[in-house]
Amino acid sequence: MTGHWNGLGSLALVLITAIWLAGCGQSLEDGELPRTPPATWAGGSAPGGPVAVTHGGVGSPPEWSTDCQLAAEWAFAALAQASPALEAAVVGTMVMENNPRFNAGTGANIRLDGQTIQMDAAVMTSDGEFAAVAIIERVPNPVAVARAVLTTPHRLLAGEGATRFAHRAGFADVVPTCPEAVAKYQRRIQLLMDSNTGGAYDSFEWRRFWNYPSEPPEGNSTSQPATDPPLEISDTVGTVVRDAGGNFAVTLSTGGTALTLYGRVGDVPIYGCGCFAGPDGAVACTGLGEEIIRQAMARTVYQFLAAGASAAEAVRRGCDLFPPEHTLGLICVDREGWGVAANREMAYGMAASETP
Ligand code: ASP
Repeated sequence: MTGHWNGLGSLALVLITAIWLAGCGQSLEDGELPRTPPATWAGGSAPGGPVAVTHGGVGSPPEWSTDCQLAAEWAFAALAQASPALEAAVVGTMVMENNPRFNAGTGANIRLDGQTIQMDAAVMTSDGEFAAVAIIERVPNPVAVARAVLTTPHRLLAGEGATRFAHRAGFADVVPTCPEAVAKYQRRIQLLMDSNTGGAYDSFEWRRFWNYPSEPPEGNSTSQPATDPPLEISDTVGTVVRDAGGNFAVTLSTGGTALTLYGRVGDVPIYGCGCFAGPDGAVACTGLGEEIIRQAMARTVYQFLAAGASAAEAVRRGCDLFPPEHTLGLICVDREGWGVAANREMAYGMAASETP
């Protein structure tokens, strides 16, 4: 009876997987079944003309895909007007930085002290140009500042130097916040008040390592969180594009993860980690930066593309490498198409030329 059931179960699994893959428009190149289909997985063919794909951060609800779609369409419109890939990718990410829903720019996470907003952003092109800002403050569009860093002899500006550079370059001196970001902070701090640790970071005693200029908030200290706080879900934004000439670019922007010390830098501005672009495509990540850095995830996924995997297959393989307890989302575009994968739900958008 058990054997019979296992046989039927396996057959059902194969059929479900085959139907799911057909729905995804993918074929199994190496004849293997995927280990575990990611919670979000999409992709398709787009062999000619411009393409833009955006993400709203791993954990963002699928309903937010309309916001990501709008950003992808802005980036696509820029490409259609012959903007270079880099400029179009900056447009896509700026549209989401200006949307208070997302953890970037205007909606960037307020850190644990209830005051600090420190953001990371990066840009990269298929000819290897890379620039980034880390823990920048008081600018509404960190991705535009990362773009401006490309015009300097440097590749990464951090902290107060990055902020002063931005203001000197003409970016407004504005603390980017909004009621949505304040409400998110209040929810998060309420969850943390019941815990010495951060749930997802079981060994991280945030009170013990407190390094903010002000004192830590008062609160109860029980050993476990009252609920399982969704502390890794943080709605970072990213854009990957291919222009009509076959050039690629990627941009990323984030207010960082929810439970961080003062001065924490994530994967976004670290070369090869949060984003990567080269002659074979462009990749953007979202998720737990500490683990993304360990795996140099964007470059790893790019190498799958360079070795011949399709865009959808490359992002799925990236998800397979990641410990399932940590969040990861990936978008990519290559010469033939695009791919999206995440080990949680994730809002995304895609705009491409009609294929004949
Ligand atoms: N990867 C970002 C960071 O660690 C956060 C995110 O993508 O949600 O800063």
